Amino acid sequence: MISSIVFVVLLGAASWLFGRNILRIRRNILLGRDVAINDRKSERWAVMTRVALGQSKMMVRPIVGVLHIIVYAGFVIINIEVLEILIDGILGTHRVLSFMGGFYDFLIGSFECLALGVLLACVVFLIRREGLRVKRFWMKEMTGWPRSDASIILFTEIALMMAFLLMNAADFALQGMGQDHYITAGAFPISSVLAGLFDFHAIQPSSLILIERICWWFHIIGILAFLNYLVVSKHLHILLAFPNVWYSSLKPKTELANMERVTGEVKSMLDPAIAPPVASARKVEGVEMPERFGAKDVFDLNWKQLMDAMTCTECGRCSSVCPANLTGKLLSPRKIMMDTRDRLEEVGKVIDAKGKWEDDGKGLGSRITDEELWACTTCNACTEACPVNIDPVGIITDMRRYLVMEESKMPGSLTTMSTNMENNGAPWAFAQSDRLKWTE
Ligand code: SF4
Ligand code: SF4
Repeated sequence: MISSIVFVVLLGAASWLFGRNILRIRRNILLGRDVAINDRKSERWAVMTRVALGQSKMMVRPIVGVLHIIVYAGFVIINIEVLEILIDGILGTHRVLSFMGGFYDFLIGSFECLALGVLLACVVFLIRREGLRVKRFWMKEMTGWPRSDASIILFTEIALMMAFLLMNAADFALQGMGQDHYITAGAFPISSVLAGLFDFHAIQPSSLILIERICWWFHIIGILAFLNYLVVSKHLHILLAFPNVWYSSLKPKTELANMERVTGEVKSMLDPAIAPPVASARKVEGVEMPERFGAKDVFDLNWKQLMDAMTCTECGRCSSVCPANLTGKLLSPRKIMMDTRDRLEEVGKVIDAKGKWEDDGKGLGSRITDEELWACTTCNACTEACPVNIDPVGIITDMRRYLVMEESKMPGSLTTMSTNMENNGAPWAFAQSDRLKWTE
């Protein structure tokens, strides 16, 4: 009875905290400008099924891809078993779903095989990160929290899987001893080996019950803690990858989005019958936000770009194919996404603390330098490589547009080119009248 009450209190607190953080993340994402993305729905479902569910882009590197699929499948499928833990925890029962008979045995046996797969995959991932030091995990932006975040989650998954298997091993031994409460149910292909390895059959039943209970509580508390850790870590992609891929652009990758306001201006210049667009402001968290050309802060990006930032898994596949990064430039598309996310969270914290947005004098530019922005060739290799269809290029070009159109800031070479375009109708420093001189 007491354990059921403790369980319900823990479950309630963890669910409340998780819900509160999810609502906060949603609020932050919606700080972005509105953009309508709901066309070609059947294509979107197909892309989501292929890229998010089928993890097609992960398979570009097949060994890692398969290991990632095992971890992902483990996360989804083993959590079906959490349903039983929840019912048992609330009602004080044990293996409540065992009435399913043979199918239950099949489920528990499969969960065990998957748990072993997840455990081994996480060990391999840890070795790659910490032992082999794969370059993209050791780039400049991957110091401090981002690096420990990945390791924390891998260690947690290993610990959770160990607890699950040990819990079953103790249960298996207790079932063999005919202990009350431990009904004969389930198949234990992995944990039965563990039980033999640790000689569980020679241990006193009371000690075995203690081991089983400790593992059971560790497993469920670990899962509830993991749930709340997700929302403050890069592992949020487990939840956001699906909507993020669904809403991703279906246009050709090299097609840059036009600025509606500028398009409107050009149309009205070409056709006097079309009225020039009027600058519009919008209210965000109690504050009037002026319409800007390009992006100075997160408010100037659209909600999809902010969702991209929150979905980034920090895998670095984008940076590992970025020609600017590969040739030693400062730009790393992963860092662009991490900086955008960090700025968004910073803004969210101000809103939480003050109840409304108060300008803190910072912006995206306080994290992302002009040098990084101008190093981008807009080749879109990063967007192509991203396993969750994130588009760093849109943010980079929007920030550049702000620099050019609102701050009149651009590298000297580009200023010369723009002046030539204006004066000569071409990027070169020759008058139009001299163009054919080379033929003489
Ligand atoms: S589009 Fe820019 S950021 Fe992306 S890979 Fe190309 S150069 Fe790098
Ligand atoms: S933008 Fe995509 S490819 Fe780049 S680090 Fe994030 S998830 Fe990985």
